[in-house]
Amino acid sequence: DEDARLLLAAANDDFVEEDEVIPPVVAILGRPNVGKSSLVNRILGRREAVVEDVPGVTRDRVTYQAEWAGREFTIVDTGGWEHDAKGIHARVAEQAEIAADLADVVVFVVDAAVGPTATDEGVVKLLRRIKKPVFLIANKIDDFNQEPEAAALWSLGMGKPYPVSAIHGRGVADFLDDLMEKLPEHSAYGGMIPSGGPRRVALIGRPNVGKSSLLNKLAGSERVVVDNLAGTTRDPVDELIELGGRVWRFVDTAGIRRRQHMSQGADYYASLRTQAALEKAEVAVILLAVDERLSEQDIRILNTAIEAGRAIVLAFNKWDLMDEDRRRYLEREIEQDLAHVEWAPRVNISAKTGWHKDRLVPALDTALESWDKRISTGKLNAFLGELVAANPHPVRGGKQPRILFATQVSARPPRFVLFTTGFLDPGYRRFITRRLRETFGFEGTPIEVSMRVRE
Ligand code: GDP
Repeated sequence: DEDARLLLAAANDDFVEEDEVIPPVVAILGRPNVGKSSLVNRILGRREAVVEDVPGVTRDRVTYQAEWAGREFTIVDTGGWEHDAKGIHARVAEQAEIAADLADVVVFVVDAAVGPTATDEGVVKLLRRIKKPVFLIANKIDDFNQEPEAAALWSLGMGKPYPVSAIHGRGVADFLDDLMEKLPEHSAYGGMIPSGGPRRVALIGRPNVGKSSLLNKLAGSERVVVDNLAGTTRDPVDELIELGGRVWRFVDTAGIRRRQHMSQGADYYASLRTQAALEKAEVAVILLAVDERLSEQDIRILNTAIEAGRAIVLAFNKWDLMDEDRRRYLEREIEQDLAHVEWAPRVNISAKTGWHKDRLVPALDTALESWDKRISTGKLNAFLGELVAANPHPVRGGKQPRILFATQVSARPPRFVLFTTGFLDPGYRRFITRRLRETFGFEGTPIEVSMRVRE
């Protein structure tokens, strides 16, 4: 069983470094109200209420892990923006841009009951330029009698329209079967991330914290590498930048470089980019701007990176605007709002002047070293033995759970499993986690400690 396998692996200390495979990415696009969300829910096999493209509705999730016929893929739902009649063309263009950057296959949803609109035709023009496989979904074909309406969409010149009823599920299986045939083994966007090669960095943060300024500063002053390095498959949205004598891969920089049209939906696209970048990155540089208060959005972005299990560096930008008042404020904010990430290295920088930009590399190194770290089973259990002897688990109802054994089951980020004879108090588990950090370092990486209870 799983426990036995873990124990055996731990005993032999034979952890295999596996290349990380990024599942292929399917982008769903189409006008508001054509049924994109219904289709996504249908593919995910969810029964929960469908969220339609209602103005004012912002969804916090934009990518979903899906599975069909035993294959995994990522769905990017580009439809979460608010819209007004005037803005539709711009919004749809933005969707197509995202799809062009991120997707391996595009699914274009049209409301067959309405028929193709001028906006739909605009999308078709954009999709021609993207040159990626496109599936044309004729949605809202709820029964056989409506099939001619689907057939009418041949006129778009996007090949075969798939007659589908996202609400009832009709035609979805056939479409998915064909989709699987066009789906590459893994994402061409991230491809298979090799264990070696340049380290992959994501610059993330809310709009206007200075991501593009920092990227420009880093890329501008240092040599930008263009040659064919091992493990650097060409990817139009990444940039290779030499810093501190080594090459780093800054992932998903297209969205940073491109000036965001700061309009409705911009937040949505920003979070979509953040998720895409985190998926590819090993380490995230979270930018925070010191001339403003820390916002909920800052913290949300930071937490997304932690939850994604990435190494973390906090960069306090716009330090040139720092003054005494602000400094006192910031100290308090760090204490209060960033307490859960006190383990992350912090650098104070100015993307504008370039001040302290050389501090970034040592911080990245520290975080990545922790992220990669493996503690041998011997050392880990010696540490735990002493810790538990000195600080035994409290007795609860006459029982005292014992820790039999612990092992690090993976790195990047480090994950530990404790084999126990009963459930450990959350407080005790936090205590162990804290001591793990104190003893072994782990500066700059989230770590996970879980339990397996033996009966
Ligand atoms: P992004 O949206 O995160 O890419 O942010 P930008 O790089 O576009 O920066 C937003 C604004 O902040 C621009 O007006 C920049 O000139 C300004 N900015 C960025 N970094 C700094 C900095 O270190 N100091 C100052 N004073 N301004 C900065």
